[in-house]
Amino acid sequence: MPRNLPFIRGRSYCPKCRKKISWYDNIPLLSFIVLKGRCRNCRKKISFRYPLVELLTGVFFVLGAEMTGGLGGLAVLGILRVWLITLAMVAVFFIDLEWQIIPDQIVFPLILVISFFSLITTPQSLITNYLPTAVLASAFFYFLHWLTREKGMGLGDVKFVFLIGLILGYPLAVVSLYLAFLTGAIAAVILILTGRAIRKQRIAFGPFLAMTCLAVLFWGEKILWLLKKYF
Ligand SMILES: [Zn+2]
Repeated sequence: MPRNLPFIRGRSYCPKCRKKISWYDNIPLLSFIVLKGRCRNCRKKISFRYPLVELLTGVFFVLGAEMTGGLGGLAVLGILRVWLITLAMVAVFFIDLEWQIIPDQIVFPLILVISFFSLITTPQSLITNYLPTAVLASAFFYFLHWLTREKGMGLGDVKFVFLIGLILGYPLAVVSLYLAFLTGAIAAVILILTGRAIRKQRIAFGPFLAMTCLAVLFWGEKILWLLKKYF
């Protein structure tokens, strides 16, 4: 998306030699293993990010199907919802890490789709819980954005936490944001201590938000239980 490539139509190609990739060299994980991580045409290395994204997406798709309990009736909607969230979170994680951007093309459609899912499955909670949580989370992040003179928290984060509030609701969204700040702070300290970042450097926050949102989506109740027990 940040490279402005067509992401639904359009074929994959090798970023090194620009040759189009045949379907049999584009099978998730398997092709990377068969080709030993190199392009068939130019033999240059393929970034490890590709199989990693494929593996993570696959694992969370299976977990999602298991969690929502099969393909019958309304459960189909549950699976679709979790799969879409997985795709969005994995994409935001890697895009923000590399580009310090959270694309509106991911966040805005997801906000609409998640609202729609809520509207047909739990309309009452959408009004009394999910929507107010989203608004409050966004407002809090906008306040941080203003407080850090627009240099710390980006507007992308403000829009992204609206989506997270809408997905998780109260109290799980709070757990997710709390863990994002916690893991972000730990990562920042490690990066500074190991000399890989300087104190005033901006560290993308989206990856932490995306990672903890997925963790809480899948293991929210367990995490909540642990937090209540130990904090
Ligand atoms: Zn190539």
